[in-house]
Amino acid sequence: AKARLFDKDNDQKVTFKDVAGLEEAKVEVMEVVDFLRNPGKYSELGGKIPKGALLVGPPGTGKTLLAKAVAGEANVPFFSISGSDFVEMFVGVGASRVRDLFKQAKDKAPCIVFIDEIDAIGRARSKNSGWSSNDERENTLNQLLTEMDGFGTNAGVIVLAATNRADILDKALLRAGRFDRQIEVGLPDIKERAEIFAVHLKKLKLDPKLDTDFLARQTPGFSGADIANVCNEAALIAARKNKNQVERQDFMDAIDRIIGGLERKNKIITDAE
Ligand code: ATP
Repeated sequence: AKARLFDKDNDQKVTFKDVAGLEEAKVEVMEVVDFLRNPGKYSELGGKIPKGALLVGPPGTGKTLLAKAVAGEANVPFFSISGSDFVEMFVGVGASRVRDLFKQAKDKAPCIVFIDEIDAIGRARSKNSGWSSNDERENTLNQLLTEMDGFGTNAGVIVLAATNRADILDKALLRAGRFDRQIEVGLPDIKERAEIFAVHLKKLKLDPKLDTDFLARQTPGFSGADIANVCNEAALIAARKNKNQVERQDFMDAIDRIIGGLERKNKIITDAE
């Protein structure tokens, strides 16, 4: 998902009902929602509210959606940046963007800061590269670490970051007081796929005979983003045929088309079920 550079997101409010499946991840982020809603409850007992959590999982599984839902459920602002926006930036720009982002966030606290594709800035730093001091990515990462250490534990800024490669992240990011919690956001199983279809089918004018279990069976290996794509594609196919509702065959055609796209991307479609 492409994120704007630390604009407060103006998208319509997202809540947990927009996020299908991911029951365990929802339970874990529910804690974050509670920290944001009732910070006093924790600090009065001397508890330190966590500063950050890492959402880990394959592309398109709903990490961005879940982070937005945390902000939506807690009714707080959502600031987002993407690690990939920092690639090939001029010297000093990345670090100053990070500084500005956290300044805004602290002003608007309580709030959520979301860093998509954190691996793009958070890859392990090279140990013995003579160029390391010139590496803008490292400057950006160092600034991020400085910011996370700089605000007090109960400042009301909670940083959620997403990656599909937790294993390549700099260990400094995972240290206590930074992203010390990891939340798995995996590919949906057959039951979860049916639930994701149900969310996205709500927007369509459907043949009443269509059932989500059938669609879930036809889509092993699909992510939530793939399923959202199937639903949209099916509606376009039906419209092209001048139908007045979206039918089973339109979904079959859409699924074929998406599988074709996935195969071109060399994605291996497997299904453990
Ligand atoms: P990436 O790693 O590519 O940024 P991501 O994990 O952040 O992906 P999202 O951007 O949250 O994935 O998902 C893209 C879209 O796919 C969502 O906006 C939503 O429409 C749909 N989607 C993904 N997962 C779910 C889900 N669990 N429930 C409902 N819709 C989903």
